[in-house]
Amino acid sequence: MRHSAFNLLVQALRGHRDLRPAWRDASPKSAYDVVIVGGGGHGLATAYYLAKEHGLSKIAVIEKGWIGSGNAGRNTTVIRSNYGEPGNIPLYELSLKLWEGLEQDLNYNVMVSQRGIVNLFHSDAQRDAYARRGNMMRIHGVDAQLLDEAEIRRHAPFLDFDNARFPIRGGLLQRRGGTARHDAVVWGYARAADGRGVDVIQNCEVTGMVIESGVIKGVETTRGTIGAKKVGLAVAGNSSRLAAMAGMRLPIETCILQAMVTEGIKPLIPGVITFGAEHFYISQSNKGGLVFGGDIDAYKSYAQRGNLPIIEDVCECGMALMPMIGRLRVLRQWAGNVDMTMDGSPIIDKTPVSGLYFNGGWCYGGFKATPASGFTFAHLIARDTSHPAAGALRLDRFATGYVVDENGKGAQANLH
Ligand SMILES: Cc1cc2nc3c(=O)[nH]c(=O)nc-3n(C[C@H](O)[C@H](O)[C@H](O)COP(=O)(O)OP(=O)(O)OC[C@H]3O[C@@H](n4cnc5c(N)ncnc54)[C@H](O)[C@@H]3O)c2cc1C
Repeated sequence: MRHSAFNLLVQALRGHRDLRPAWRDASPKSAYDVVIVGGGGHGLATAYYLAKEHGLSKIAVIEKGWIGSGNAGRNTTVIRSNYGEPGNIPLYELSLKLWEGLEQDLNYNVMVSQRGIVNLFHSDAQRDAYARRGNMMRIHGVDAQLLDEAEIRRHAPFLDFDNARFPIRGGLLQRRGGTARHDAVVWGYARAADGRGVDVIQNCEVTGMVIESGVIKGVETTRGTIGAKKVGLAVAGNSSRLAAMAGMRLPIETCILQAMVTEGIKPLIPGVITFGAEHFYISQSNKGGLVFGGDIDAYKSYAQRGNLPIIEDVCECGMALMPMIGRLRVLRQWAGNVDMTMDGSPIIDKTPVSGLYFNGGWCYGGFKATPASGFTFAHLIARDTSHPAAGALRLDRFATGYVVDENGKGAQANLH
């Protein structure tokens, strides 16, 4: 009721004197039962579900900057569960189901908008691949619909059908896919976690791990050493750095991913559209801007800024798909660090250090996974055993050979 329309009106008339911050600016205590490193969506969601689903208290989320300053606040907000591998589908479908009830759960408007996502195909071989993916989805109880060219023409008449360099033959539609407001997701989880007693500690960088005889004892930070019985890493693009502090070398490389937004225009794009001939996807924000992105800048970097050649490449793809986009002005461009695994799928698992758990390797697409990533990571930390939906996402799969090869390009990130 703190944020009911009535209370907001009363507060407005009283000069906002009694409005409290949405979450406390907590200071680190000497020790916690569980410390989650990383105040992005995944870290905050993990802390929330640890408190809500497993009844744990004495939890802290430690963030080196401000919450949402990483990829959580930089992504293009696409949510979907149109994956093709049995190792991935249960996790992303669990996530979509959690998205569908998230606003009620958090009592926060995270602006989930299920306007659908269409993956276009441009050749017979690609049609076969998408038909197979759609079948895999349906076998797992996920909605999927194969559209032919005429149906795509009705769905998105502004695409270039008649003079196209890559003719559009159809698309795979997931109606339940769409977008959610990324900042609101971070704020919603932070407020809800704080409401359950979680300390959300900002401006506190983890600089080392305290490990004794192979058991985690806490973390060293820029604000002192913090003891912990269990530590969960959810630092996305910084995964390799944090793992190195615990003496681990991960099958992850960090690259740059950029995105762009144009000036606002009248409603045009129905949901999300992805180009099948190149790496380009586009949606429209609630303010009217066209939000789009494409490939990673292929070099390795921890800098949160991109390079011009990829912007040019992405814009060329946009022009090939919908030439009228060339008349719009790009207002902003930004970048984040994506944690690329060698098979394109994430990792949610224990580590060789007792009490240290790892969540990362989200590649291009961890935002959509935020609720299920937190839900299953909390399960793993609380019960010391994998949640069934994340059972295949093991750290040792590159050694055992049980990869979850979502990209179908083998365990080689430079071919992605
Ligand atoms: C341009 C772009 C577009 C994207 N588009 C999509 C999309 O449309 N759909 C989708 O599903 N996914 C998308 N993604 C991917 C998605 O954003 C990420 O996979 C996801 O946000 C990662 O999880 P997170 O939110 O917890 O990460 P982050 O928000 O990056 O959280 C990690 C946090 O850890 C903190 N941290 C790092 N090191 C330390 C340390 N030493 N001590 C303390 N804290 C530390 C960081 O500051 C950061 O806040 C996109 C990513 C980018 C960059």
